[in-house]
Amino acid sequence: MRLSWRRSSNAEDRFEKWLAQQHQRRVLAGETTPSGPCPDEAFLQDLARRSPKVALSDSRVDHAATCPACMNRLLALREELRSHRHKSVIAVAVTACAIIAIAFVVGRYAMERTPSVGNTLAVSQTVNLWDTGTVRGEQPGQLQSVSLPAALIKLKIVLPRHSAPGQYMVAITRDQNGNGAVAEGLASTVVNGDQQQIVADIDLRNARAGQYFLSTTHEQDQTAYYYPLQIK
Ligand SMILES: [Zn+2]
Repeated sequence: MRLSWRRSSNAEDRFEKWLAQQHQRRVLAGETTPSGPCPDEAFLQDLARRSPKVALSDSRVDHAATCPACMNRLLALREELRSHRHKSVIAVAVTACAIIAIAFVVGRYAMERTPSVGNTLAVSQTVNLWDTGTVRGEQPGQLQSVSLPAALIKLKIVLPRHSAPGQYMVAITRDQNGNGAVAEGLASTVVNGDQQQIVADIDLRNARAGQYFLSTTHEQDQTAYYYPLQIK
C-alpha cells in the first residue's frame, strides 16, 4: 500500500518536472509573452533561492515565469546554487528549494495553459493512428486526410500499435520540430481491447486554418511523434 503510494507520488513528481521542462522550452523559445518589465537581479536571486521575501502572487513572479531573459537568468542562478552544493548542508537545502520554486512557478503556468473545457461545448473528434509507423522520421502517409475544425475539441487518439501506456502530451504545432504550438493537452492512456487510447482537450478556437502537425509525446521516453494535420 505504502509502496504503491510512493510510486504514484514519484510519477507525479516526474510529471510535474516534465511539465515544467515543456514550459521552460516554450519560454526560452520566445513563445510566451511576458507582461511588465524585467525585475532586478536581487529579485531573481531571491526567487531562485525561494526567499520568503518573494510572494508567489507577486506580478514579477508571473513575469519571470514567462520571460526568456529572466528564465535564463533563473536557470543560471540555479546552476550557481547547484555548483556550490558541496560547500555546506545549507546550500543543498537551498538548491532543493530553488528547484522546487522554479518547478512550481513554471509548472503552474504549464497547468494554466491546459484549456479548461468547463461547460463550453467541445466537439468530439477521433484520430486513428493505430496503423501508422512509430519510427521517428517515418512519413505516415495515410494521415493526409486528417483534419480538425478550429473549435474546442475533445480529441480521442487511438495510439499507434505497441504504444506505451502512461501520460501523453498532445500538441498541435506548426512544424515537425515542435515549434509554433497552437494548442496542447495532456491525457492518460485508457486501454480499449488491444489499443491504447487517449482523450485530450484541445483548444483550436484561435487557430487559423492551414497545415499543422499533431504530436504525441510520452512522459517518459520524451520522443515526439509528428503526424500531418489540417485545421479547417
Ligand atoms: Zn524579464
